[in-house]
Amino acid sequence: MKPFSYLRAETVDDAIRALVSNPLAKLLAGGTNLIDLMKYEIAQPAVLIDINRLPLKTVEELPGGGLRIGALVSNSAVAYDERVTTNFPLLSSAILSGASPQLRNAATMGGNILQRTRCYYFYDPATPCNKRQPGSGCAAIGGVNRMHAILGTSEHCIAVHPSDMGVALAALDATVEVEGPDGRRDIPFTDFHRLPEDHPEQDNTLGYGELITAIRLEPNRFANHHTYIKLRDRLSYAFALVSVAAALEVVEGRILDLRVALGGVAHRPWRDRLVEAEFSGEIANETTFRGIAKRLLTCAKGQGDNDFKIPLANEAIVRALGQALSGRPQVPSCKSMQ
Ligand code: SF4
Repeated sequence: MKPFSYLRAETVDDAIRALVSNPLAKLLAGGTNLIDLMKYEIAQPAVLIDINRLPLKTVEELPGGGLRIGALVSNSAVAYDERVTTNFPLLSSAILSGASPQLRNAATMGGNILQRTRCYYFYDPATPCNKRQPGSGCAAIGGVNRMHAILGTSEHCIAVHPSDMGVALAALDATVEVEGPDGRRDIPFTDFHRLPEDHPEQDNTLGYGELITAIRLEPNRFANHHTYIKLRDRLSYAFALVSVAAALEVVEGRILDLRVALGGVAHRPWRDRLVEAEFSGEIANETTFRGIAKRLLTCAKGQGDNDFKIPLANEAIVRALGQALSGRPQVPSCKSMQ
């Protein structure tokens, strides 16, 4: 690990000032990804700004039934918060599908969505990687790419975003609140992460000197018809090969509102609002669910090793929508498909 200096911010303004004054500074919250990146010397911050004392650790109820979750609330605290388990169980389920209890206790809401890809080449400085070193190439294209993306790839990067929680936040239309040198702004969650395009080194749309202060959830009617399915090589403590967050609102057998977000398949949690709108009003049954899956995967393209993800995602979408319709969501601790 390279030497770095350490400072502790007491206020959000302190943290922003410190970030702006040093382009090589990084924020330290739970540190569950950043410390690994520093050990591998993938991240080499000159300054670590510890933000753990900032007043961003509360979950506030919003008028109408929404929630505003501070960026430093731990993943565990959110997953077991009664307001979340009652009104946003999809989020709780997705969080509990990820990592381990110890990591979830340390990881924060802001840090979870800022975690970086687990592409093996990104962590191996002996190989080319445009995300780690722009312009060096992409070892995963034509290399070992079993874990990699099937949607939204570019000729420069085929990495996937690793967060489970982010897949649920995409389905729930969450909003990311950020603060920076130019003040506060909201970023719709589905615009927060980027596709790789020509700049895979940029994971998200945060501006220079900006930090996440909260994640906001609007009220919804999905509490009884949702599920989060995660398919992976090991049954615990593994990243998703494919995951699906599905939520339905059904009236008299027809789809009134539909959300499907996919994980493990793209550089960001994948959602297609046009497809969702196309199937609004259709009868909620397996034929419709197969149509939704087919449309969501129309542009999917394998890279060789990961071709299996296309049929896997297809069946996972159909299964997830079936679980959401029946009101029997996948239980994160249950290792078999229900
Ligand atoms: Fe790097 Fe992206 Fe290629 Fe992985 S897929 S080697 S992160 S450029």
